[in-house]
Amino acid sequence: LLAGYTIDVTERKKAEQEIVAASAKLQTALIREQELARTDTLTGVNNRRHLYEQAGHEFQVAIRYQQTLSVIMFDIDHFKKVNDTFGHEAGDHILKLVADTATAELRSADVIGRYGGEEFIIILPMTNSHQAFQVAERIRMSVADLSISTQKGPAQVTLSIGIAELNGATSAETVEEIFRRADEAMYTAKQAGRNRTEIR
Ligand code: GH3
Ligand code: MG
Ligand code: MG
Repeated sequence: LLAGYTIDVTERKKAEQEIVAASAKLQTALIREQELARTDTLTGVNNRRHLYEQAGHEFQVAIRYQQTLSVIMFDIDHFKKVNDTFGHEAGDHILKLVADTATAELRSADVIGRYGGEEFIIILPMTNSHQAFQVAERIRMSVADLSISTQKGPAQVTLSIGIAELNGATSAETVEEIFRRADEAMYTAKQAGRNRTEIR
């Protein structure tokens, strides 16, 4: 009787441990899934959908606490030509390097995301356009300094950058409105000859 009881407890314990292990595995898989759903596969930064989610949250905070917030938008110059010259695969590699280079210049509170093909957006909470300009220029120069080795020789790329500021104390502009202003500033940078930063 005693021996039977021991076996019973042992098996029950084993079953319990298996349930705990399976549940931990499921939890890990779930977290991984959620992470993937927020991330752009190629570059590892936030995807467009999650970027908008984060931006909406940061705008709410800035307006509620009357803080300044800046948006940096950048686009790789003549990227079609880069693809044509070095190949689409090299282009993908360059996109990843540009995202990494920009991310390296940011603080932990800043949010970077892939907005479109070779276009990225950065949200900088508690940052005015003058401070954002310094960040943007660091990114612009770091990217311009990259010599990217490809099978067809070294590649170089430049960025055109636009900046727009939200003053949470005096304005309740929407995410869309500020993104549009940043886009207009970026367009001005393109028109002015590219590889430069403009504020609007
Ligand atoms: P500019 O912005 O200076 O005006 O010129 P551009 O040549 O960069 O202009 P455009 O925005 O028209 O072209 C963007 C190109 O980026 C087109 C597309 O082939 C390329 N592109 C977009 N997404 C990807 C991607 O994920 N990988 C690669 N390799 N290329 C991409
Ligand atoms: Mg471009
Ligand atoms: Mg573009």
